Amino acid sequence: MTTATVFNYSYGPRTGLSTQPAPLPMRRIVIVGGGTAGWMTALILARSLIERGVEITLLESPAVPTIGVGEGSTPWLRGFFDSLGIEEAEWMPACHATYKCGITFEGWSTKPGFERYFHPFASMLDNLTMKQFVHNADARVNGAAVDAHPDRFFIAARLASGCRAPKAAESFPFDIWHGYHFDAVLLGQFLHHKALERGVRYKSCHVSHATLATDGSIAAVCTREGETIAADLFVDCSGFAGLLIDQALHTPYVSFSGNLVNDAAVALPTPIGAAIPSQTISTALRHGWAWQIPLTSRFGNGYVYSSQFCSADEAETELRRHLGLLEADVPARHLKMKCGRVTRHWNRNCLAVGLAQGFIEPLEATALLFIQQTATTFVEFLERGDLSEQAHERFNERVNAHFEGTRDYIVTHYKTNTRTDTEYWRANATNMNLSDELKALYALWMSGKGIAPPVAQQTLGKGYPVMSWYAIMCGMGIFPDIADLRPPSTQESRFRLAEIDNLLERSSANYPDHREALGRIAPRRTEPTLQVYFW
Ligand SMILES: Cc1cc2nc3c(=O)[nH]c(=O)nc-3n(C[C@H](O)[C@H](O)[C@H](O)COP(=O)(O)OP(=O)(O)OC[C@H]3O[C@@H](n4cnc5c(N)ncnc54)[C@H](O)[C@@H]3O)c2cc1C
Repeated sequence: MTTATVFNYSYGPRTGLSTQPAPLPMRRIVIVGGGTAGWMTALILARSLIERGVEITLLESPAVPTIGVGEGSTPWLRGFFDSLGIEEAEWMPACHATYKCGITFEGWSTKPGFERYFHPFASMLDNLTMKQFVHNADARVNGAAVDAHPDRFFIAARLASGCRAPKAAESFPFDIWHGYHFDAVLLGQFLHHKALERGVRYKSCHVSHATLATDGSIAAVCTREGETIAADLFVDCSGFAGLLIDQALHTPYVSFSGNLVNDAAVALPTPIGAAIPSQTISTALRHGWAWQIPLTSRFGNGYVYSSQFCSADEAETELRRHLGLLEADVPARHLKMKCGRVTRHWNRNCLAVGLAQGFIEPLEATALLFIQQTATTFVEFLERGDLSEQAHERFNERVNAHFEGTRDYIVTHYKTNTRTDTEYWRANATNMNLSDELKALYALWMSGKGIAPPVAQQTLGKGYPVMSWYAIMCGMGIFPDIADLRPPSTQESRFRLAEIDNLLERSSANYPDHREALGRIAPRRTEPTLQVYFW
């Protein structure tokens, strides 16, 4: 059986350095930008550096609002809060947060039986059914008529479909690996407050430009208010503007627009009902997809689309129709976005984090993970005292690999779609602008030899674990046509779906209703752990 971590790296709490930390080569850090990226980075840096005498100042323009979206996370966000010692009981109610067991993809495939599927965050309990899932998936790719739809095999899919929380009753010691949903503006305010409490300095001012030193590094940033602010390190968290990494340092940028064509979004809130779902729903529309994110106070909804294929007005009308809001005068927010990444996230004495470093469209809600990963990895380098050119290279290679791997997974959602209703979906399905790794992975899948070993060894499918690759390929129904399936052999049909159903049904009974669980979030009863699950 293949062994694979559910996610490939850990950005959770570190157990501390075993050796004496190297002397810090910097005394003063300036972060430009007070969005989620700015405050998350400030807190991650503050945790290691403030007590060692480093001064961290965050500058935020009073004239440029934060992007104000970004309300879903991966499970890694738990590691962020754990590493800062911030309990769910404190931050979740303050941010109207809910639990997220995964994402349902609705209407991306037209194949019978595969019109919707759930991408779970896999957990320890899934060890009991993962083997059966992979076995059935491999058998079905090879033409056997066995059930390989992912929803049949994961506890998280059960919990999500029943609006249950991933927090087990005390008598059942299996937490489910989960992400969160939250109000982006409230999260920003919460992090701002926490960062100030932990010694980060804040200045409301508009950075007009940066001055460069003779070696090409940033010497200072100058503000409209007339100040010149020098530092050893500048962190660019200025959003899509990329004030420092792009406008000052002209760092080359790799666009992903060749294979991720969405470049705009429109967002609208709706009231939350009596039941609070514990999942994000992503519904394919005519020229993109709509998100539905449940908070305790409202649903966040939005439509991510490509302006090559439809106008902002058309997108807004389609979203309103989808939400039943055609007649309502709830105002919509329109946003532009660009997908791609800078080549050097750490360039000279500038670190870019958040939208300034790059963005992959929000389909799998990975942007906060990039922020966390970039800032945490940077602190690791800093603590080793390693700021050499080679260190820059290693750092940038690592962050770039994570971007590329994630991009390939997101691309797969589009590439495997079978919709034919619009040019948008047809163009996505026929787009051959794919990385070599992705082409190899698809070829291996179609060969029926199983993709687990090379994905687990990270020779293919960087960024996402084996389980996610199986979930997407099976969920989209990338199998021989039903008419071409043959009866399975005894070996192929050796797992009884009824037994798996029964197991999952009994297990899910140990998880409470989501709304009820949110109403009694309490300080944790055991030490937090970020476990690595194997299958
Ligand atoms: C449609 C959409 C949906 C998304 N959904 C998700 C999701 O579900 N999950 C997820 O993880 N991510 C999501 N994201 C991404 C997420 O919103 C961002 O990664 C996150 O909010 C971080 O943004 P940021 O802090 O980099 O930039 P911003 O929020 O844009 O903040 C930029 C900051 O820079 C400051 N600034 C700008 N110019 C200046 C200046 N001249 N001087 C001083 N300060 C300046 C601004 O005042 C602001 O404080 C989504 C993005 C989009 C577009």
